[in-house]
Amino acid sequence: MKTTQSIEDLLKKVGTYLPQTDLPLIEEAYLFSKKAHEGQVRSSGEEYIIHPVEVAYILAELEQDTSTIIAGLLHDIVEDTDIPAETLSSTFGDNVYRLVDGVTKLGKIYFDSQEEEQAENFRKMFIAMAKDIRVVIIKLADRLHNMRTLKHQPQDKRLSKAKETRDIFAPLAHRLGMWWVKWELEDLCFYYLQYDEFQEIKKLVASKREERETYVEKFIGHIQTLLDENHLQAKVFGRPKHFYSIYKKLVSQNLNFDELYDTLGIRVILSTLRECYEVLGIVHASFKPINGRFKDYIAMPKSNLYQSLHTTVIGPEGKPVEVQIRTSEMHQVAEYGIAAHWRYKEGSQNRKFDADFSWLRQILDTEQEKSAAKEFLQNLKVDLFIEEVFAFTPKGSVHVLPKGATPIDFAYRIHTEIGHCCVGAKINGHIVPLHYVLQSGDRVEILTSKKANPNIDWLNFAHTGQAKSKIKQWYKKQHAEENIRKGKLKFDKLLLVSGYVPKEILTKETIEKLLHFLKLPSLDELYLLISQGELSGHEAVHFFNELTHKETEAPDPKTTSRKKSTSTSQDVLVLGESNVMSNLAKCCSPLPGDPILGYITLGFGVSIHRSDCAQILHLDESHKARLVSAEWALTNKQKLFSAALWVEAFDRIGILKDILNTISEIKTNIIEVKTKSSVKNASMRATIVIETSNIRHLNTVRQAIAQIPDVLSVRRGKDL
Ligand code: MN
Repeated sequence: MKTTQSIEDLLKKVGTYLPQTDLPLIEEAYLFSKKAHEGQVRSSGEEYIIHPVEVAYILAELEQDTSTIIAGLLHDIVEDTDIPAETLSSTFGDNVYRLVDGVTKLGKIYFDSQEEEQAENFRKMFIAMAKDIRVVIIKLADRLHNMRTLKHQPQDKRLSKAKETRDIFAPLAHRLGMWWVKWELEDLCFYYLQYDEFQEIKKLVASKREERETYVEKFIGHIQTLLDENHLQAKVFGRPKHFYSIYKKLVSQNLNFDELYDTLGIRVILSTLRECYEVLGIVHASFKPINGRFKDYIAMPKSNLYQSLHTTVIGPEGKPVEVQIRTSEMHQVAEYGIAAHWRYKEGSQNRKFDADFSWLRQILDTEQEKSAAKEFLQNLKVDLFIEEVFAFTPKGSVHVLPKGATPIDFAYRIHTEIGHCCVGAKINGHIVPLHYVLQSGDRVEILTSKKANPNIDWLNFAHTGQAKSKIKQWYKKQHAEENIRKGKLKFDKLLLVSGYVPKEILTKETIEKLLHFLKLPSLDELYLLISQGELSGHEAVHFFNELTHKETEAPDPKTTSRKKSTSTSQDVLVLGESNVMSNLAKCCSPLPGDPILGYITLGFGVSIHRSDCAQILHLDESHKARLVSAEWALTNKQKLFSAALWVEAFDRIGILKDILNTISEIKTNIIEVKTKSSVKNASMRATIVIETSNIRHLNTVRQAIAQIPDVLSVRRGKDL
């Protein structure tokens, strides 16, 4: 473990890579921090200021800019002292203030879920909430120093911190390509979480150290000679070992320590990309490469921007040695990762992540395969989750939602049923309206009721496609049955008035053809679309017309008379619809007021009969399917219909005159009179066709005739 660094060490270190920078300002930040933390001690019993100085020193080792170094010195001030954040802004500027504020906010996140998936969300959230990636870099430096000094903490805290570091911070460092920080964090976690294994690996590494170091030195000598022969300038050195990575390899590849290739490794650092491939060729020409161990991460960079050539060759004495070849620029990225891009950037205030990576993207656009460029950009996007919010369940699981998401989205994200039964939401313990816009870090509790149903208004503030479609689906499903029923009724009517009997025309075969024609999956779907007004049904009728080659031309003259309607469609509603071609059947001459039925004829519309018409009553079963309900339309116009009365009376002189007079007295026109006398029983029968507007009028006439002496009976009769 490293020894304590002083402020002088820090200033000296910063001076090596930022010779122009304002060192007095860093010193001022140090004094400010020292004063603010005065009287505070760390668990080790040391003065508190030691910690921020160490953190700042780690940042200097990562060659970070002045603002970041200063923020490192001040990072615990807002959290641990009474000094308000605003004071930092006035003394050290907005830039520093924002960094410290960011670190303080990140400090308030608790990582309480162990699941891998959740851990990834935490890492994403972490970056999202940091907004400026330097905040994460400071946080990692802070964690690194805390891990270095973890032995001063009580045992339970050691374990929980180490676990959190292993699950969140080390992978975060990995994701950001900060290998150096990652490895140290991992080895520290390894030490605290798997002490026995750590010691075992340490012993193994130590036991072979001398042998290995001698061997590596010899191998480096070989390579150096080869480079000299080829006039190549390079730095060649042995690769540092990391206990945890050795341990992981042993476990995952089920190897003996002796078999582990990576324990022997060297690095060759060159100035240009061309030289890298040149050296690769030289190495392969001199040492036999092991099949399948060559990786070109220069052409295909890892998603965390790592670039290098890797190959494992058989060295002297038949031992495998891994050789990593890269440019010094790649080496910077490899060691410092994302932090490398914040070096030497003093003075550019509005730095943008994109701009900093422009050089890398250019390389990718021109030299790399498109897929690699795409992957890179995707990863870049994932790394800067400004369009996302991260909200917790009460149990601490994180859900990633797009910016603008509401509790409704959160509820549907947890489970469809939770969404359907949502009645309210609490954010951080307080009831909020359902249109509340979630903020990263919100703890969301969804209140549910089993009896609750989705509200159609939710569609106005549900933000995710998932929630919207679930709400719509629910409505669709709820209304589907009813809509299918309505649609079927409507379609059946349409078929009937078009001259088809639904039961007859809708056979398995025709349904299949129809659905194929309309490109629909099922008849229910057709009914649904009809009920929703998205389909009129006429397409289907037209299709059936074609299918049955139905005669649509004028009927032949013989039947034309039948077609002559005594009524227009306005008089009668068929199946509740006007505009249906209909005519009053001559057989029973229905009158307004008479209960009526429609009979679907083939090609002549609907024929309207009285419900008690003998023709209707005696229809056979198959024709009964053609009967449809009909009713008289309520119109203001007094329309006249002809109606026949059948009168029987004693045949006396003047009886007919009496009858006709009576009819005239009620101001009723007589259209036709036919009489027949029977001498045998002295009776007279007459069929009188009159004009009438409705059944009530007809009954009046009928009653009046019945009152005439010698009239035996008056019935509605057949038109003769
Ligand atoms: Mn700290």
